[in-house]
Amino acid sequence: MAKRHVIVRKLNAVESLGSCTVIASDKTGTLTVNQQTVREITLPDGNQIVISGEGYNDQGEIKPKNEQILTDDTKAQLETLGKCAILCNEATLENMNGTWQYNGDAMDVALLSFGYKLGFKPKEVLQQYQTIATIPFESEKRYAATLHQKDGKYVLIVKGAVETILPFCDQVYIAGKHQPLDAEVVHQQAIAMAEGGFRVLAFAMREIGLDNAAPSLDESMLSGMTLQALVGFIDPLRPEVRAAVETARMAGIHVVMITGDHPATAFAIGRELGIAETYDQVVTGQELAEIGDFHVPEFFERVKHANIFARVTPDQKLHIVSALMCLGHFVAVTGDGVNDAPALRKANIGVAMGSGTDVAKDTALLIVTDDNFASIVAGIEEGRHAYANVRKVTLFLISTGLAELILIGLSILAGLPIPLLAVQILWLNLVTNGIQDVALAFEAGEKEVMKMPPRPPSEGVFNRKMIEQVLLTGISMALVCFVAWVLLINSGWEETTARNGLLTLLVLMQFYHVMNCRSENVSVFRVPIRNNPVLIVGMFLAFIIHILATEIPFLQSLLRTQPLPLQYWLIFAAVSAVMLVVMELYKWWANRKHALK
Ligand code: ADP
Ligand code: MG
Repeated sequence: MAKRHVIVRKLNAVESLGSCTVIASDKTGTLTVNQQTVREITLPDGNQIVISGEGYNDQGEIKPKNEQILTDDTKAQLETLGKCAILCNEATLENMNGTWQYNGDAMDVALLSFGYKLGFKPKEVLQQYQTIATIPFESEKRYAATLHQKDGKYVLIVKGAVETILPFCDQVYIAGKHQPLDAEVVHQQAIAMAEGGFRVLAFAMREIGLDNAAPSLDESMLSGMTLQALVGFIDPLRPEVRAAVETARMAGIHVVMITGDHPATAFAIGRELGIAETYDQVVTGQELAEIGDFHVPEFFERVKHANIFARVTPDQKLHIVSALMCLGHFVAVTGDGVNDAPALRKANIGVAMGSGTDVAKDTALLIVTDDNFASIVAGIEEGRHAYANVRKVTLFLISTGLAELILIGLSILAGLPIPLLAVQILWLNLVTNGIQDVALAFEAGEKEVMKMPPRPPSEGVFNRKMIEQVLLTGISMALVCFVAWVLLINSGWEETTARNGLLTLLVLMQFYHVMNCRSENVSVFRVPIRNNPVLIVGMFLAFIIHILATEIPFLQSLLRTQPLPLQYWLIFAAVSAVMLVVMELYKWWANRKHALK
């Protein structure tokens, strides 16, 4: 798992991963790379500006979208915007001896890069405009604000989600004068950008005379502001995610996106990734809030049919997870922030991001070190493999145990001598079986595990199929051995010699049976040997050890064994092949039954 970037904090999470039926994933950073870049700006007069350049540095061109030249008026607006982007900012971006170093929120770093592209030096701007107070960004609030002082006046700057910022504003600045704000127009502009997959931030500011403002900042001051611009960020999709979403779908796992972002942005990205197809699969936090209660059937209905949850608060995320669990799902949910902790704790499998907060990591069962959605799906695959291997080993062990039990029981009932001595049973269970058993756990996963629906979370290892297989193989093994025992005793073999033969027969049967157990569905002949070289070595080892047991005097006296003529080795090996036939027939029957269903 660690190789596939998944750290497991509680061991039992590994197996439960396999029964996951829903992955509720964050968008930013998990589905996308979180390399936010300012790409497009819409000014209040409808003018659009595009910005080029890759990565976080000062390289990139700023020009009008429709190939015109920048007017002085537009230039002035962009410069004010650039200063605001630098001032209302919690990140740093600096060129240190030729390499660009940054720190902080990706959105803020992107804004600093935009500032550089306009020709500003953040340090100088910050010196000119002394920062007096700040309201840092929090996902619940969806905005950040700062208050600055310059030349005898205060400048208040706010940036955030468009719906959050618009109520703070009552005017725009077009063609050199202030004009009343038409919120509807701005909304349309924002939606047009969001539909293109842009994450949109609105910027607004207000100047305040020195004598008016108390040098403290709270939300009540955020009114009568001038809307400056809408800034569109692109955050590239992680290239592996599309395929991972498809893998999850094939494996019967429903993928939903839970994001604080705008529904249009979320849908554009969700559609690209194959998470949603039509817009009615998007539910917003507001719609959920309007239902009021999160225990009512209506809320469950909404949650059931949604693939994307947009503009949701961490609180709502928790209720969505609870609702999914009430609907019978086994939910894996991702999170990184402190306020994600309740949802991570509530979910069946909390998945924290490697870059996330310690609180999130402490609460989660799994940590995905590379933050990548594809790693969650890989983790589920590994979980299914682990569970499948637990089943294989269980089948192998329990069926052998059952066979020994029946064999001894039948012999007692038939009035025959005890077929195996205690030390021989130990030899079989601990040594020859023991080696193969451990080796069996190294079985590489079968590709098919991700083509099957998740197992029901309530189902234990001993489901119907397991019971059928254990009974079938246990009973066949016991019957073959019992018949052999009767024949050996009756054909005049001395008791100890007959036991020696029976023990070897059982050891040989295990060789076929361990091969059977390599797959519950696929024929022995179609499971590639390379899937488990350890098992081949293990079988070889077990074989050598058993030969030694019959040849070395010390072991002979311990196990009451003796050399067995070659012809009996061969006869027993041929008889043991019954195990193979029985299980092959069972697999064929079970697969046909499954296909007919
Ligand atoms: P996500 O689920 O994508 O991580 P967030 O909770 O980070 O969403 O952001 C929710 C919204 O808050 C964003 O859509 C954006 O409008 C706004 N926002 C995000 N980052 C910032 C920031 N640094 N400053 C101001 N507003 C922000
Ligand atoms: Mg975020």
